[in-house]
Formats: sequence, C-alpha cells, structure tokens
Amino acid sequence: MKIVVLKFGGTSVGSIDRIKKVAEIIISYLKKRYKVIVVSSAMSGITNKLVKMSKEISSNYIPDEYDVLVSSGEQMSCSLISGRLNHLGYKSRSWLGWQVPIFTKGSHAVARIRNIYKKNITKYLKSGGIPIIAGFQGINSNLRITTIGRGGTDASAIMLARFFNAEKCIIYTDVDGVYTTDPNKIKKAKKIKKISYEEMLEMASSGSKVMQPHSIQDARLNRIDIEVRSSFKKVSGTIITKRKNIVNNKIIQGVSFTKNDAKITLVGVKDRPGIAASIFEPLYKNSINVDMVVQNISSNGKETDLTFTIKSEDLSKTERLIKKNKKINFKKIIVDDKVSKVSIIGVGMITTPGVTYRMFNALAKKNINIIVISTSEIKISVLVSRKDLNKAISILHKELPEKTPDGAIYNKLCIKLAIEGLELD
Ligand code: ASP
Ligand code: MG
Repeated sequence: MKIVVLKFGGTSVGSIDRIKKVAEIIISYLKKRYKVIVVSSAMSGITNKLVKMSKEISSNYIPDEYDVLVSSGEQMSCSLISGRLNHLGYKSRSWLGWQVPIFTKGSHAVARIRNIYKKNITKYLKSGGIPIIAGFQGINSNLRITTIGRGGTDASAIMLARFFNAEKCIIYTDVDGVYTTDPNKIKKAKKIKKISYEEMLEMASSGSKVMQPHSIQDARLNRIDIEVRSSFKKVSGTIITKRKNIVNNKIIQGVSFTKNDAKITLVGVKDRPGIAASIFEPLYKNSINVDMVVQNISSNGKETDLTFTIKSEDLSKTERLIKKNKKINFKKIIVDDKVSKVSIIGVGMITTPGVTYRMFNALAKKNINIIVISTSEIKISVLVSRKDLNKAISILHKELPEKTPDGAIYNKLCIKLAIEGLELD
C-alpha cells in the first residue's frame, strides 16, 4: 500500500469553506492512487477558547479533565471533514485517539505518543475508506484521554507516518513553506526548498513558528521526510529531511528570532561550586525555561556576575523566586524585559570559518549592541535590545546567506560519508 499522511492545521480547517477545500485536497491524493490517512487539528481558535474556559472554571483544573476538555475541538473538525467526504460520495469516518487507539506516555498536557494500534485503520484503508484521525490526543495506560502539547497535531502526523510506514507526510498549513526569515517582516525572505531536521529544529525553537519543535525531533529520530505546504495555494513547499539529501552550498539557511525575551543579571554572586545549580533549581521546578546563560569569570575568585534570559511572561515569577532563594547570595539584581534574540542557522557553518566574525561585524556596522551571545554547532544567537530587532534581522538576512566553496566541500563530505554508510548527524 502506498500511504500518504496529510495533516491539516487549524487555519486549514478554520471555516466550512476551508473544510470543503480540504476535502478536495484529500481527493486529489486518492486520484494519485494513494491510500490517505488524514490527521486534523481543531478549527483555529477553538483550542484557545477551551483553554480559556478551563481557566475561568478553575485556576487549578485537574490535568486529566483538562485534557478531556482541550482535546474536544478535534472531534468537531474530524467529523466535518469526513462528513464532507461522505457527501461527495467517498467512504470516510472519523477516529478519536482512544478509538484508534493511540497510546501515549508521560504527564497530561505534555504526553508523547508511544504506540499506535494499526489493525483497524489498515483494514479500513484496504476497504477503500479514508480515516480522519484526531490530532493532538491519545490515551494513557489508565485509559484516560491525554494531549501531547499545543500544536501537537504535527507530532501526531509524524508518528502516524512512522507507524504506517507512509511514503510521505505532508503538513498542510497557512504558509507555503519555511522561509529564510519571517516574510511579513523582510520582503526579500525566500522560501527554502529543502532544510535539514537539525536546522529546522533550531529554526523552530528559535522563533520560526511553522512546526512544533518536538515533532521535528520525532521526524528526525524516525527518519520521516516532511513536506510543509499551503492548503490555500497550489505551490510547492519546503521539504524537511536528513542532511545528506540536501545538496546546496548555503552557509546560512535562515535567520530566526524571538521577540519577547527578558534578561536577568545577578551582580556579585558569591562564587562556589554548585552556585549555578542553586540559582536554576527553583526555576526548573517551576517549569521556567531558561534560554541563554553567561557567567563571567570572577576576577577576585570570590564573586561573579551571572546573566540569563527567559520569556518576558516568566519575568516577575522568576524575580520572585530568585529573591526568596536562600541558597544564593548576590549584591544586585538587574532586569531588562525589552530584549530580543536573533539567530542565524545553518549546517554550513560547521565547515566555514569566519561566520561568527561576519555576524558580529554586520551588527557592528549598524551600531547594534550585542548583549549576550550563545552558540551551538549550527546556530549563533545574539541578544539585542528590542528596538534594534528589525534592523538586526534585516542586516543579517542581507549579509549572510551567500554561498561559498566550503559548503560544497561539506556536501562532498556528506556524500562520501553516505557512500560509506555513515551519517554526519
Ligand atoms: N488544536 C491543538 C492546538 O491548538 C493542536 C494543534 O493545533 O495541533 O494546540
Ligand atoms: Mg493549532
């Protein structure tokens, strides 16, 4: 069986008209002789409404019930899609997570898919039916409904593709692919034809909202190729795949950013082994995500300054936790909630010297002050004042994406490793 998994996001099923279009897209794959598994999000706005209602009922809504509530939007969209297909004369029915079943592990609201029971769906596909499966949900070993994190339908699609050994996994959304940077901000942003899992993962976690980050990690681990494309426009999208499938010599694939960061500096922290752990422990226990961290070398061996960033929305809570933390001693706390992070991403930087210098130089020429720097193998991020954000994105997008022969060497290396059956990642 030649299987394709089609995922439709909230805006793609956002109205009755949109759902009618979705039915046409599904039928076009049947005509290409695919067996189609559809997985759908809730109509846009619905899940947010459900979350809001839970908050109005209680600030302490118990997680098991929360999942029952917030997963209900998908029931509606899935039935509307199969309803439309039935209307057009096609055999189709909806499946909720527990009906498949899709088994998850882990806590409510942040569960992960562990297994998918295939038998019933396979039988239905063989009989010519089109299963419409609710994304974002599953059941745990207590047979309670679970959800797998906001935007989780992406992960549902990838896991369905994996368990059913699909030839393709296509993510239909409201943008027509992954861009070199936000096309709403920078007119010259270009659609990326192919991007590696690693680059996409860095893009997604540093602000590009096309896909849910952990779904990309699932795809990477299971080697599922993903295509992101628009359900509104008939144009080719972006393929997310392994590095060795990508032949181009770009150093930088994209520039991404997060707008609402906040920075905290602790001045004159009494230095001793374990001090950083003592600072971050209460933040971790309160699910506050720390992003960039810099600790200065203490010049007198006794005191050090430590700076880190978090989401602006977590700032007041973090400040409170730091101030009441008895395990640490410091002279002063400085906070700044008007900062943003800009990142350049590309596997080409592994083999290309001078990318760091060129990035910093480009920012310097525009008089943009860098507050904090952090790097990974394929990403360089800088924290800048929020007022400089747009200028920074635009200069980096302009200065950096050119090609060099080094990229070609990298690709040759990938090809060589591929021939030898090895992989760089
Ligand atoms: N409807 C869920 C949400 O809005 C899941 C999804 O859209 O993928 O988070
Ligand atoms: Mg959504």
